[in-house]
Amino acid sequence: MEQDRENPYKWRLPKPNYLPHNVDVDGLIVENMVEANGHIVEKTNKPLDRPSDMENAAYLNKIKRFAHEYGITKPKGTKVSFHYNPDMERHHFGQTHPMKPWRLTLTKSLVSAYGMNFAMDNYSVRAATYEELTAFHTEDYVNFLATVLPQPLPLDVDNPHPDLKFNLGGSDCPLFEGLYDYCSMSAGASLDAARKLCTNQADIAIAWGGGLHHAKKSEASGFCYINDIVLAILQLLRIHARVLYIDIDVHHGDGVEEAFFSTDRVMTVSFHKYDPQVFFPGTGALDDNGPKSEHNPGAHHAINVPLNDGITDEQYEWLFQSIISKCIEKFRPGAIALQCGADSLAGDRLGKFNLLVQGHASCVEFCKKLNIPLIIFGGGGYTPRNVARAWAYETAVAIDQHKNIPTEIPIHTPWRDRFRNDSLLPTIQQILGEPRQNRNTQKKLTDIIQHVTEQLRFVGAAPSAQLSVIPPDIGPIRDEVEQRIKEEMEDIDEIGRKLQEEGVGDRMELS
Ligand SMILES: [Zn+2]
Repeated sequence: MEQDRENPYKWRLPKPNYLPHNVDVDGLIVENMVEANGHIVEKTNKPLDRPSDMENAAYLNKIKRFAHEYGITKPKGTKVSFHYNPDMERHHFGQTHPMKPWRLTLTKSLVSAYGMNFAMDNYSVRAATYEELTAFHTEDYVNFLATVLPQPLPLDVDNPHPDLKFNLGGSDCPLFEGLYDYCSMSAGASLDAARKLCTNQADIAIAWGGGLHHAKKSEASGFCYINDIVLAILQLLRIHARVLYIDIDVHHGDGVEEAFFSTDRVMTVSFHKYDPQVFFPGTGALDDNGPKSEHNPGAHHAINVPLNDGITDEQYEWLFQSIISKCIEKFRPGAIALQCGADSLAGDRLGKFNLLVQGHASCVEFCKKLNIPLIIFGGGGYTPRNVARAWAYETAVAIDQHKNIPTEIPIHTPWRDRFRNDSLLPTIQQILGEPRQNRNTQKKLTDIIQHVTEQLRFVGAAPSAQLSVIPPDIGPIRDEVEQRIKEEMEDIDEIGRKLQEEGVGDRMELS
């Protein structure tokens, strides 16, 4: 089977970890190991999972030479950090499941083969704690995740185990071995990335293990269990009045949109395939722009860009830049959270766009040029070799080296044969043979931009935020807002009723 070949990970001894382990166990700043010159092995207090420390050191020396050869240096004026938990990639959703954590191994192998780690601060991060997870998720959901035993997939995928809840245990969100660890590692890396932005230790923070945008407050969804993005944005809101969330995964970023539905401090912008009858999750229509009530501060703060199969780099870049520049102008975010789901690339097992690595990465490049603190997450992506190419190239964009690195995948790259093609930037012909039919007309894209422009007319009356107040669980914020609106509407109804009784007014004029 295809997946068996692509994911031999389950059946082998732990794989090498090529990253220097710059362990940040207590949340303290640990000196960048790369800068520790010759003390790489001695500095770490965590066993490297390369067969031996000697081998690990030898590999690091080797890539250091290549980093020198490629001219990889720390970018001037921009601090980039890389947040990673090497244990995450060992987890396994099941042989036939499209989500392969092994894609993170492949990404890391490419990033390190180019020597990119030498241009970043590398953090091998701890898993998120129970308290950190329950900053968004409900306790009963997290308790269940933490205690439920692994379950084999039900034979009838449409009828998962009847005693399971929270949408867990079916074919999309299976209960695999180590699930809770996997979720808390993913969230831990994203939280660490957000905190490094908040403390100005990074201008761009990368967490490829995060980006799990479908998870809900107390429900798993679409291969996502814990919404690391929501947790990370809650951190950013401690410092920043407004955060712009951008999602370029092929699926609608529904979990993040829903979490911040009733606030004007987070604007969500999702670019995705929209075909509600057949394509997951079926939400994110053009005119879904947040709460319908103008009394709700979240109104007009959800932007959705529904697309069809076959969109090209040229169209996508144009749409992305047109829309995001308008959002920035009106919303004026203090930080940007960018979900870089790689299932929007050509050749994905689930997505059917025609995007090349360059087109996908142009979104990262555009955001970087805005010079606003930026957190970059992974997300979907179901053809591991394509995911690794995109995320490695986007790492190169973050450190400003994408124009310098050779496009031939370095000869010493671990698992190089898995890339099937020697190029970091294969053409559409090399990936697909024939491009997918493009079902996006220019007229439709122009209409989208027009609609978004109209929505944004309602945004930008400088929403004020009390920065001294650290946001609590966003759930109560939403409940509070909705309760207040309900009460206001009841008051209006009451006034209208009285006026009608007195025969002097019409309820419609008041509402
Ligand atoms: Zn996706």
